[in-house]
Amino acid sequence: MLLGRASEVVVVGGGISGLSTCYYVNELAARTKQMIHLTLIEAGNRLGGKIVTDVNDGMIIEGGPDSFFTLKAYALDLCKELGLTDDLVVADSESKGTYILNRGKLSKLPEGTSRACLENYSAFC
Ligand SMILES: Cc1cc2nc3c(=O)[nH]c(=O)nc-3n(C[C@H](O)[C@H](O)[C@H](O)COP(=O)(O)OP(=O)(O)OC[C@H]3O[C@@H](n4cnc5c(N)ncnc54)[C@H](O)[C@@H]3O)c2cc1C
Repeated sequence: MLLGRASEVVVVGGGISGLSTCYYVNELAARTKQMIHLTLIEAGNRLGGKIVTDVNDGMIIEGGPDSFFTLKAYALDLCKELGLTDDLVVADSESKGTYILNRGKLSKLPEGTSRACLENYSAFC
């Protein structure tokens, strides 16, 4: 993609999609030495969209996403570019598994399920 000179770029939404779009558009403009005027429009009063982190009594509570799959490299690549890899926490293999809270009790889903996505059909057979 080539941007014209002093292109007007408007990104709607300040969630991860909009923010990363702003980052990559900015990178492209810098790399190709093109002038852009970049505007981000966000309807809410904060950035991040579904990503929201709360700290309560020293406990970190993620209101939305708390992880990403490294199998697809895009999020990891972005973290690397932004110098955030030291802040990443690898999921503890001992707490591996997906649970559903049902009538006050945690029930573990069978192996082969990941975040309620069926990865291995035979796990249910
Ligand atoms: C509880 C929960 C847990 C999740 N867990 C994970 C996880 O562990 N791993 C994972 O990969 N994904 C997870 N997801 C999915 C992930 O959060 C989303 O796919 C991702 O955050 C979506 O980002 P987005 O920028 O596309 O949209 P959003 O985060 O929804 O951002 C859209 C933004 O656009 C703004 N907007 C909307 N309309 C307009 C408008 N007309 N004008 C201006 N601004 C507008 C909104 O206010 C918002 O800020 C989870 C989602 C939820 C809800």
